[in-house]
Amino acid sequence: MSPMHQNSTPPADLPAIWQALLGWFAASGRDLPWRHTRDPYRIMVSEIMLQQTQVDRVISKYHSFLAAFPTLEALAAAPTAEVIRAWAGLGYNRRAVNMQRAARVVLADHGGQFPRDLPALLALPGIGRYTAGAIACFAFEQDVGFIDTNIRRVLQRLFAEPTALPEAQLLALAESAVPPGQGWAWNQAIMELGALICIPAPACWRCPAQRWCRDYAARRAADELAFEAGAPTMPAAPPRARALAERRAAPYAGSSRFFRGRAIDTLRALPAGQSLGIAALGAALKDDFGAGDMPWLLALVDGLARDGLLERDGDAVRLP
Ligand code: SF4
Repeated sequence: MSPMHQNSTPPADLPAIWQALLGWFAASGRDLPWRHTRDPYRIMVSEIMLQQTQVDRVISKYHSFLAAFPTLEALAAAPTAEVIRAWAGLGYNRRAVNMQRAARVVLADHGGQFPRDLPALLALPGIGRYTAGAIACFAFEQDVGFIDTNIRRVLQRLFAEPTALPEAQLLALAESAVPPGQGWAWNQAIMELGALICIPAPACWRCPAQRWCRDYAARRAADELAFEAGAPTMPAAPPRARALAERRAAPYAGSSRFFRGRAIDTLRALPAGQSLGIAALGAALKDDFGAGDMPWLLALVDGLARDGLLERDGDAVRLP
């Protein structure tokens, strides 16, 4: 294991943490459909759906999407409008378009076989470091580290509190913490811990890693000190946690993402192949839509067209 920042070095008893977490995951991990496959296409679909969407909502969409596009070839060959329609209810529609682009590149440049190495996976459209790592690990069972929201939170607390680590250091930590030969189970376990127990308000009393957790030890010590001083209190949320909470509380209605989603929902509701006038789209988005809103609407339409989510033909728009 490579030496790292003093606050991000996994402890010497890392093997004991591996054993505890892997044992807990084997006994308590949820039975999720994408945990039964090593098909990189299915892993890609599940991982991209899960990036911004809760597991409960993803399960049924995962099944219906794969029923509509059972193979990489089927997704690559489908009209993009059909893929966007099948994505209804998941939000962040650009993910659907990028996933189809990735499928087309795998077909055209890799003979329909997903590349196995990280650089080639990263070169696919819409595939970032997290998704590339997840495909390499969950489809090809490689011992790679990667970070999503849940993994970041667990690693930060388990190994690195109180210093909020920069992303590159957290990634190095994620990589160095993978038990050799058990990357699949380890990454599933640590994501599961972050989803079920090490949640934003963590349920430490039922955490299998509690005895090794640096954050838990620090908070327990702070609680004891406060208790001795006669003023038991919870430590204030660290700045990063506060910033995240504030960002989450930011209003969605009226945001650019809100109107982008509504515009695609409006086009999705049209019969296949049908277009809608731009002014009619504006009226569907805003009850009081007027001429003064047209520059805003055109910018919205241009952005969606750039992202491959709609096509503009003069004064009309439709799904691509
Ligand atoms: Fe998270 Fe608490 Fe477990 Fe530490 S002890 S990893 S903070 S749930």
